[in-house]
Amino acid sequence: MSESVVTETCPLCQGFGRLERPDGTTVPCECRAGEIAEARRAAARIPERYRNCRLQNFKDLQNDSLKKAKAVAKRFVDHWPAVDAGLLITGPVGVGKTHLAVAILNELVDTKGATVLFCDFSDLLDRIQASFSKGSDESQDDIVAPYRDAEVLVLDELGARRPSDWVREILYGLLNTRYNRRRITILTTNFGDEPDARGAETLEMRVGAPVRSRLWEMTQLVTVSADDFRRTHRARAFA
Ligand SMILES: [Zn+2]
Repeated sequence: MSESVVTETCPLCQGFGRLERPDGTTVPCECRAGEIAEARRAAARIPERYRNCRLQNFKDLQNDSLKKAKAVAKRFVDHWPAVDAGLLITGPVGVGKTHLAVAILNELVDTKGATVLFCDFSDLLDRIQASFSKGSDESQDDIVAPYRDAEVLVLDELGARRPSDWVREILYGLLNTRYNRRRITILTTNFGDEPDARGAETLEMRVGAPVRSRLWEMTQLVTVSADDFRRTHRARAFA
């Protein structure tokens, strides 16, 4: 007989993976915590490139707004589940908004056992649009249902798609249901409340007034900027 594989049996559960409680019900043994967290991570549908995003590896050195945003994220994780509003993370491309949002999901899965879900706004719309075509076996409702129920949802790149009535309706329906069910939503967007110097559209123009107003009620606004870094350096150069 080969003795090459030596499996250590868990002394707590003798390898059954569950422990019986005094009331006769069972709970997962702590030896399965890693597997359970792994399953939760897989169920979260976080894209591969964001899999390792953590608060710890979020680069906040550039400016104060990033430091502040990271502090808000940390507080959010620390206080979970005693959190009654989500986050609306707004700022220009490339400052790490998605990193920050996904980091919160990863921390919640690892340290709080929360059930979380990641959703790319454009992908969601693509899938819904595909469901309109004849012969599709998925209905719009099948597609949106998991996003209504997730304990914590990250909706990435809100407003990335050109607005249309059906997009606004779906978005409002989803957010409104989550609001009514007291589910927490974290959103990222490149669009702000004020038109920027380049005359870009505002978030309200992209998603519609009802959605923007719902978001005021269900999220805390976190604004990150890329400007402070350049400004500080220029100020120093001229000092
Ligand atoms: Zn065990």
